[in-house]
Amino acid sequence: MIWYPYEQMKTMKAPYEIVDAEGPYLYTKDAKLLDSISSWWSVIYGYRQPQITAAICKQAEKFSHVMLGGLTHKPVEELSEKLASWLPGDLDYCFFSDSGSVAVEVALKMALQYYVNRGETGRKTILALEHAYHGDTFKTMAAGDDEDYHFILQVYGENPYVRHIPTEIPALEDVFARCHEELNCFIVEPLLQGAGGMRMYDIAFLQRARELCDEYGVLLIFDEVATGFGRTGHRFVADVVLPDILVLGKGLTGGHIGHAVTVANKKVFDAFYDEAPEKALMHGPTFMGNALACAAAKASIELFDQLNVPARVAHIEEVARRELGGFTDPRIREVRIMGGCACIEVYDAKLLAGYQQFAYERGVFARPFLTYLYAMVPYILTDEELIHIFSVMKEWFRRG
Ligand SMILES: *Cc1c(COP(=O)(O)O)cnc(C)c1O
Repeated sequence: MIWYPYEQMKTMKAPYEIVDAEGPYLYTKDAKLLDSISSWWSVIYGYRQPQITAAICKQAEKFSHVMLGGLTHKPVEELSEKLASWLPGDLDYCFFSDSGSVAVEVALKMALQYYVNRGETGRKTILALEHAYHGDTFKTMAAGDDEDYHFILQVYGENPYVRHIPTEIPALEDVFARCHEELNCFIVEPLLQGAGGMRMYDIAFLQRARELCDEYGVLLIFDEVATGFGRTGHRFVADVVLPDILVLGKGLTGGHIGHAVTVANKKVFDAFYDEAPEKALMHGPTFMGNALACAAAKASIELFDQLNVPARVAHIEEVARRELGGFTDPRIREVRIMGGCACIEVYDAKLLAGYQQFAYERGVFARPFLTYLYAMVPYILTDEELIHIFSVMKEWFRRG
């Protein structure tokens, strides 16, 4: 039997069985559903996207996979070259992984070993944000700050090698002043914290973080697994504030195949580049640089530019502000909108029980969690489709 994610198997409601998917639509045997959350925020151009699908098929006719240990191939070379030229600054060194969690693990390992390779073994601590989510593997859970997902870590007690701060400049300045000698990196989901509750914060915080990281020689890591590829309205937040290490996942292949990448700048790469074998990065996911995934990612990046995604996301944000911006209800704590993310936070999680079925009956697939009712739509929606999603969200409150 299938063991489903984040569910109590004994009480979970039966999942909807999808028999087909195309564009922004999921099809069950008897329903057509507009996907309002892009399959965990990854299917940014919709399902069965023709260019991405063609790129995968074309590559599959040659080979689907060869390992990257001692072998290389065109799709992975082309993708890494494309990323190096497309990403800002000297974020040029691409380490591929099969999932976002693993790519974050790699980033954290890089940051730790960066200092070990330079002989600074005292920098053991990760600085992260309150309400952070960086994945479900062990070190990413520790960097995360989300007991709803990671309560299991409580059995270990307090983790001595991670500190969490709120997204406030005074707290940031304080922790750097007090603890900079022990810090190896500061990892953030820039501007938009997704799984921690669609929390949004100001770019000034990241600008100050960049200054402090430079001043005290701490590596700045952007986990853009969720925010990358346009979600915040920026192509990448890294275009505005440049990190030392950038992690991409989810939208990388247009959500067509799982893949992720940890991209380091020259300074980080150079700390590993040496005659000494022990200075190498000892990591290698079996399916890293998978040829189908690389072909899909390359097509996805080309599509991003062709579709002018930032302009589309700006339009989605404009419609969201118009439709949801002023929406109030005594049971709503806050409505938050940024780029292609709109979230209604309610006071009581119980209020959202039944929403999924309510939306289903109105032709929308949604998956609220905790106190968050949100939309992270594929970028290809028409205005009519977009407005329908927001209307269903509002109707839930109006029905009393
Ligand atoms: C989803 C997510 C991850 C984990 O990615 P997986 O592919 O699910 O392992 C890491 N960081 C952020 C910010 C995410 O949203």
